[in-house]
Amino acid sequence: MNKIIYNFANRNNNLGTETAFTVLAKANKLAAEGKSIINLGIGQPDFPTPEHIVEAGIKALRDGHHGYTQSTGIPKLREAVSEDIFKRHNQNVSPENILIVPGGKVIIFFAAMLMGEKNKEILYPNPGFPIYESAINYSGAKAVPYELSEKKGFSFSAEDILNKINDKTSLIIINSPANPTGGVVPKIELEKLAKGLEKHPNVILMSDEIYDQFCFGSTPFTSMLSFPNIRDQLIILNGWSKTYAMTGWRLGYGIFPTKLYEIAEKLAVNIHSCVNASAQYAAIEALQGPQECVVEMNNAFKKRAYYMYKSLNDIDGFNCQEPNGAFYCFPNIKVTNKSSTIIQNELLDNLGIATVAGTSFGKYGEGFIRLSCANSSEAIQEAIERIKAVY
Ligand code: PLP
Repeated sequence: MNKIIYNFANRNNNLGTETAFTVLAKANKLAAEGKSIINLGIGQPDFPTPEHIVEAGIKALRDGHHGYTQSTGIPKLREAVSEDIFKRHNQNVSPENILIVPGGKVIIFFAAMLMGEKNKEILYPNPGFPIYESAINYSGAKAVPYELSEKKGFSFSAEDILNKINDKTSLIIINSPANPTGGVVPKIELEKLAKGLEKHPNVILMSDEIYDQFCFGSTPFTSMLSFPNIRDQLIILNGWSKTYAMTGWRLGYGIFPTKLYEIAEKLAVNIHSCVNASAQYAAIEALQGPQECVVEMNNAFKKRAYYMYKSLNDIDGFNCQEPNGAFYCFPNIKVTNKSSTIIQNELLDNLGIATVAGTSFGKYGEGFIRLSCANSSEAIQEAIERIKAVY
């Protein structure tokens, strides 16, 4: 038989991945072999989806919502998102500009496909969510990192970003509260960025606000929707995965300026047709039902994140900044003189603690590891005890 030659398109060689999923697979394998594993690797709430939301999803199925929906999302859900934005940010966004998609991640890919191609440049945070760099590379554009440094509390200065804009820049990606650092960008920097972008009407900004409701430090969350001057240049990424513990439902949304919306809608029709119908009904209930569940999760993440960062600072080799939001601690481990990957492997193989090496989030993540607070206080405490006993 002839040997098959898979002559696939070259751009596929540019795809990256999310190490968190690789670590999860390894951690699950070790657990299945009987090892005691504490999972501080994966970025999803450890809480179940609140009962009233689950019930709304089940009811939708029982009510016969089995078919395709509008590719943009059911109108009631787009209206519910618009109302939620008005309630939380006092900003008007037309449902016509809201696209419901299967997970916030889809918006990253859409933004990269919309704005990226050969001879274009896209700016993205580093360390940052690894899918930014992967999607940019896949689009053919040049991925240009801007560093989120520990010295600046893992925030950025608008000036740094604006100085990196050139004739080729088509898109800038920002993320606050941030994965993996837990950093939150102060309003003043965001305002400066919005002001500066007025001079670059050919540049689009994508603001990933998926952790917006998990913000518990001294710097409050500011949505880029607060700056109407750049609304026509702005793509917003948000969704239900983190806020309502709904990662597996695959639900997210994007807000696009009208011109880009028309193309994003076509991408949706070409790729996924529409989002699972019952999940969309559950999403309406999530936005319109009681919000105590969100407050409770935020409080739990705050308590755990503070415990984690303070305890890590008592251990030789770990220096951790106070996290401001999301649900991660990102300690500096440079004094161990070991690479992030070595520490990640030591923690998993020797101590049964799943974490993610900082380098999984880009080159500026070397010397750091990410620990997720999305596990019980008891599990976090046990992990700290195990680390303390060895380092
Ligand atoms: N953006 C950031 C910064 C994330 O951390 C994640 C998930 O980990 C996403 C987007 C994707 O979220 P979703 O699960 O809704 O696709």
